[in-house]
Amino acid sequence: MTTSVGFIGWRGMVGSVLMDRMRSEGDFEGIDPVFFSTSNAGGPAPSFAAGASALQDAYDVDALAKLPILVTAQGGDYTKAVYPKLRAAGWDGLWIDAASTLRMESSSVIVLDPVNRPVIDTALKNGVKEFVGGNCTVSCMLMGLGGLFKQGLVEWGTSMTYQAASGGGARHMRELLTQFGDLHGAVAQELEDPASAILEIDRKVLQTQRGGLDSAQFGVPLAGSVIPWIDADLGDGMSKEEWKGGVETNKILGRTSGAEIPFDGLCVRIGAMRSHSQAVTLKLTRDVPLDEIAQIIDEDNEWGFFVPNTKEETMARLTPVAVTGSLDIPVGRVRKLAMGPEYISAFTVGDQLLWGAAEPLRRMLKIALGTL
Ligand code: NAP
Repeated sequence: MTTSVGFIGWRGMVGSVLMDRMRSEGDFEGIDPVFFSTSNAGGPAPSFAAGASALQDAYDVDALAKLPILVTAQGGDYTKAVYPKLRAAGWDGLWIDAASTLRMESSSVIVLDPVNRPVIDTALKNGVKEFVGGNCTVSCMLMGLGGLFKQGLVEWGTSMTYQAASGGGARHMRELLTQFGDLHGAVAQELEDPASAILEIDRKVLQTQRGGLDSAQFGVPLAGSVIPWIDADLGDGMSKEEWKGGVETNKILGRTSGAEIPFDGLCVRIGAMRSHSQAVTLKLTRDVPLDEIAQIIDEDNEWGFFVPNTKEETMARLTPVAVTGSLDIPVGRVRKLAMGPEYISAFTVGDQLLWGAAEPLRRMLKIALGTL
């Protein structure tokens, strides 16, 4: 028997990665997809979905309410506008969403099944109907280090992130590349000449960064720089991205009301394309030997793995360039810190459009359909 599933936001950046993953995993077998659009109702369904009917209007509550499962990667404004209307109309279906709007509602579960499958299963049994993908950085971190949290080995943690341009969306990725190109263009002639003075090149680059770079998306230049603020200013010195790190980590782990693990840090945008990295410091609840830590990381799930703490392995396997496009979550640079044997460092990398966005939604749909 096939189940009808509605897809909204399928052609955006997260939605496209979701569609690619669903096609390559054969997930469209056994479902009857219905595609919606906020901009092109009546237009043709995506070419990969042979036989699907024309695009329906994503704001048509009656059309949406006919479906038992809706999957959206359309964005927070869409969720805010449509979701309450659907419920008010009596819709009783499952809502699977990439946007952050409903993440911290008590009625929702943040999905990351390799880490919190029991939380998801219990929620489904209890009639929960809102399943939301987590913040990309949090999801990637927990895919790598979740085993240590699950075994009760983390007393507190702090994360310093190196987040890619894609977190802002497609236009941010384009702006970063344009900035790199403009910087190169400003000194291309000098670079051709091995005898040209590097300080003169540096001066010209800085002049271009300060004067001539299009920074409409990021607000300030990112190429050749970093931006140590991501998302809204909460007014107390914390960015919203940093706030998400603590609250979402605990919500995913099912830790509430007094059982929360303190987790905090600084979130920084860097000039990577689509994989987020982070340097994590953990205070463990006891002195755990490094080989045991490596084993916990390797055994927790099939995508996270331990990278030996050598220069060679780190440079080959622990970078955005090495990881992008794969579901791999390498965890390396693990060592005991000078503060004592319970303090460890770690560095993780993950493709934030895969485990950070599309993959948990794809898997949640399969869990809802009973095929995972
Ligand atoms: P996006 O690329 O801007 O796509 C959102 C929608 O924009 C599309 O579904 C499409 O809707 C419309 N659109 C307009 N012009 C388009 C064009 N030229 N190409 C493709 N789509 C176009 O948004 P996103 O980055 O995927 O993010 C979607 C949601 O996921 C957001 O809530 C975001 O916060 C969340 N999220 C994003 C990331 C990330 O890394 N970007 C990570 C985790 C979660 P119509 O087809 O209806 O016109």
